[in-house]
Amino acid sequence: MTVLVASDLDRTLIYSTAALGLTMPDLRAPRLLCVEVYESRPLSFLTERAARLLTDLGDAALFVPVTTRTRKQYQRVNLPGPQPTYAICANGGHLLVDGVSDPGWNARVTARLAAECAPLEEVREHLARTADPSWVRKLRVAEDLFVYLVVERELLPDGWVKELASWAGERGWTVSLQGRKIYAVPAPLTKSAAVREVVRRSGAEPVLAAGDSLLDADLLLAADRGWRPGHGELADTGWSAPSVTALPERGVLAGERILREFLRAARRR
Ligand SMILES: [Mg+2]
Repeated sequence: MTVLVASDLDRTLIYSTAALGLTMPDLRAPRLLCVEVYESRPLSFLTERAARLLTDLGDAALFVPVTTRTRKQYQRVNLPGPQPTYAICANGGHLLVDGVSDPGWNARVTARLAAECAPLEEVREHLARTADPSWVRKLRVAEDLFVYLVVERELLPDGWVKELASWAGERGWTVSLQGRKIYAVPAPLTKSAAVREVVRRSGAEPVLAAGDSLLDADLLLAADRGWRPGHGELADTGWSAPSVTALPERGVLAGERILREFLRAARRR
């Protein structure tokens, strides 16, 4: 049986310069590989050792990237190893098969959202009305599925995210704060639902997972085994589950450790 490895990308496997967490002495810093360039600038990295582990993992398991990124944001990530057969984008809204979004899956997801939660426009309007231009840099609609803000974290008023989460919760939406981004995502739009679909299609099991944010909690809970880094929204809120290992590593070294754990567990099968 092939093991399915379903992993979040940002701040789990790949890291922006702000998230690298290079707290070791300079001379002991790991060598880094840039895997994303945006507007001619290097944006995301993993360690060279992590790159090798990810390449090996591509042979040892069915590796499925599972991200909240839009398809466009995902497609500029140039991961080492073979192109994944399956990839999940837009927090589960798009299931890519050999790089192409499966229209049937997307139609099922959008029908479910229309039936179960408040419309996107209501949430977007609320954000546009209540978020203060003094600390909001961008308000974006992603894939016509969810909304996110890019904010100045230092200027973000205490309690604003909590208030938004409570307003959104009453409307069937979830709020997640990750670095400079505040996401508002329909609650039924989940990474785990899309991973279940990949399990159904591929027959791969068991499922191993990793993630750092609130939007990864359902993915971690649905997996047979999971890992989360020592940084991020889940670590900060002390989130835990019996099947999920809380790793001590923070920053880009956590990504390397997660890949080592994936590979060890996949090879033990
Ligand atoms: Mg993440």
